[in-house]
Amino acid sequence: MAFLNADLHCHSNVSDGTLTPEDLAARARGNGVELWSLTDHDEVGGQHRARSAATALGLPFLSGVEISVTFADKTVHIVGLGFDPDHEGLRQGLADTRGGRERRARDIAADLARVGIRGAYEGALRYVGNPDLISRTHFARYIVESGHCSETREVFQRYLTEGKPGFVPHSWARLGEAVGWITQAGGIAVIAHPGRYGFTPNEEYALFSEFKAHGGLGVEVVTGSHTEAEYVRYADMAREFDLLASRGSDFHAPGESRVDLGALPYLSGTLTPVWEALAHRIVQPG
Ligand code: AMP
Ligand code: MN
Ligand code: MN
Ligand code: MN
Repeated sequence: MAFLNADLHCHSNVSDGTLTPEDLAARARGNGVELWSLTDHDEVGGQHRARSAATALGLPFLSGVEISVTFADKTVHIVGLGFDPDHEGLRQGLADTRGGRERRARDIAADLARVGIRGAYEGALRYVGNPDLISRTHFARYIVESGHCSETREVFQRYLTEGKPGFVPHSWARLGEAVGWITQAGGIAVIAHPGRYGFTPNEEYALFSEFKAHGGLGVEVVTGSHTEAEYVRYADMAREFDLLASRGSDFHAPGESRVDLGALPYLSGTLTPVWEALAHRIVQPG
C-alpha cells in the first residue's frame, strides 16, 4: 500500500493553480496517478467537478483542501482529506478564512506600488479564476509579466515574503479550528510540507504536539516542497509522533511547479500511508 502513486496535494484555478479541475484530473491520469486529491487553498468549490472528472477517467479520488493557519506568528498549511465537501461547518470556516483576502490584496498592491510596481491589484486579478481567492501566487505571476522578475520563484525571494516589499502580515484560521473543521466533516487533517516553515526544532515540536492534541492524524512526508533529506527527516517525525504519512506534488502550473503531478518518489514502506485510514472515503470509479 505504501507503493501507490497517490498525489494528494495540488491546486486548480479555483485557487492559485492555472488548470481547471477537469484538466488536472486528466493530467494526473496521464501521469499515472493512482489516487488523486485536489487541495485548493481555503476553498472546496472545485471538489464536485474534480470528483466527476476523476470518476469519468477511472481515477480513484479523495476530497481535499489546504487551509491557511496562523501558528506561532507564522503561516502553516493544514491539508484535509476524505471529508464531506458539503459539510456546513467546514464551508463556513473556509468562507471566514477566505474573507480577509480582498483587503490583504489591496494592501499588498499598495506596498508594491511603494517600490515602483504599479497596477498590481488589477494585474493580479487578471490571473484570478475565483474572485474570492486572490493569493500571493497571482501577484507573483503579475510581477513576472511586468518584467520585475524572470520567474515566480525569484518573486518570492525578492517580494511578498517576510521583510520584503509586498508582504502584509495576516491572521488566518487557528490550528485547532482548521483541524476541527476537517475532522467534523469526517476527514483527516494532515500537516502540509513541514519542511517549508523554517521553524526551530522547539517550534516544530510544538506544532506537531498541538496538532495531535487537536485531533490531527497525518503529515506530508514526500512533497514537491521537500528535499530528499526532508523525506527522511519527516518520515522520522511521522514515526515519532505516530502520524499517518501523506504524499503530494503541490502542483500549481505547467512550467512553474518544480514537480509535476504523480512525479514523486514512493513513501517509505515503513510508514503507514494516510490512504489506508481513508479507504472507506475513496471514491472509486464505476
Ligand atoms: P497566500 O495563501 O496568498 O499567502 O499564497 C501562498 C502561496 O504562494 C503558496 O500556496 C504558494 O503557491 C505560493 N508561494 C509561497 N511561497 C512561495 C515560494 N517561496 N515559492 C513559490 N511559491 C510560493
Ligand atoms: Mn499555492
Ligand atoms: Mn502550502
Ligand atoms: Mn499547496
